[in-house]
Amino acid sequence: MNGGPDFAGVWRELEAMGQGEWGKELRARVRRQYSGEGHGDLPRWQAALAELAAFTGSGYEVRGEELHFLTGGRAEELKEVLMKLSPWRKGPFWFGEQFVDTEWRSDWKWQRVREGIAPLAGRRILDVGCGNGYHLWRMLGEGARLALGIDPSILFGCQFLAGRHFAGAKVPAAVLPLGIEEVPARLACFDTTFSMGVLYHRKSPVEHLEALRDTLRPEGELVLETLVVEGDESTVLLPQGRYAQMRNVWFLPSAPLLARMMARVGLREIEVVDLTATTVEEQRSTEWMRFQSLPDFLDPEDSRRTREGYPGPLRATLRAVR
Ligand code: SAH
Repeated sequence: MNGGPDFAGVWRELEAMGQGEWGKELRARVRRQYSGEGHGDLPRWQAALAELAAFTGSGYEVRGEELHFLTGGRAEELKEVLMKLSPWRKGPFWFGEQFVDTEWRSDWKWQRVREGIAPLAGRRILDVGCGNGYHLWRMLGEGARLALGIDPSILFGCQFLAGRHFAGAKVPAAVLPLGIEEVPARLACFDTTFSMGVLYHRKSPVEHLEALRDTLRPEGELVLETLVVEGDESTVLLPQGRYAQMRNVWFLPSAPLLARMMARVGLREIEVVDLTATTVEEQRSTEWMRFQSLPDFLDPEDSRRTREGYPGPLRATLRAVR
């Protein structure tokens, strides 16, 4: 792990896309982040990854909606090592016989999103705010040619590497430790760009949409999933303080207002693919994520409201074409 992971398959693909220069910068960035500038806990997570090296792997499979990393057994010992990379928020995963029951049922989101978007086979994909990369594996499962994720959280990057250890280093996927604001302007090279669960963390939602648009080639597809509120083109909620206990929530537009924002930045063929309220079955604490979760963030008297008295979490997925 000295110098960090090598994502050779990803660098090769970026080169083929005419993005070799960016690939070089990214390689240097990964090296820096994984050599200690990343996070105070990084050495601990790297020690866990080093322990994983003693376990054998032979690939990964998507079986129905389940994601399986193929391991050589020793489930109990494996659990001990994987626990050292807690909290596990996005998933769930099977590592051999060991089930990692994450805070979120990200597979439910994936089923809702996948329905209304262009088929991913052969596409080169950017996933902005990809978390630990759960959905990258699902994209590869659908035949994506490249699934490149970015996320500033180095712990999530390490969780991705845990899966990759078993799947094999050659997979054309990576979780790179950077935020959308560090992506070069006007890449214009991805076939599909996802932004799921990120827009409401951004202080400038229209600028986020512009940045996403500029990552796409002409005719490329944007898939946007975010928290919304009920209402028409003139409705937006800007929480006064926290929203569902989160401090970093900014704009919660209605789906029609979100569609208008997308149109204003020049996106076309905008459609609302899905609108679903988040339930306490979809987001809850587990032994893999022991902190508070959605059941604690809702009003105990009225589960349709957050503790702060705002409408409970409602999520929309929209797609559009550049
Ligand atoms: N896309 C995943 C994870 C959503 S959680 C899913 O839908 O399940 C939101 C993620 O956005 C977190 O992992 C967080 O680290 C990441 N994030 C926060 N700020 C970001 C930024 N500026 N650029 C990219 N990702 C960011």
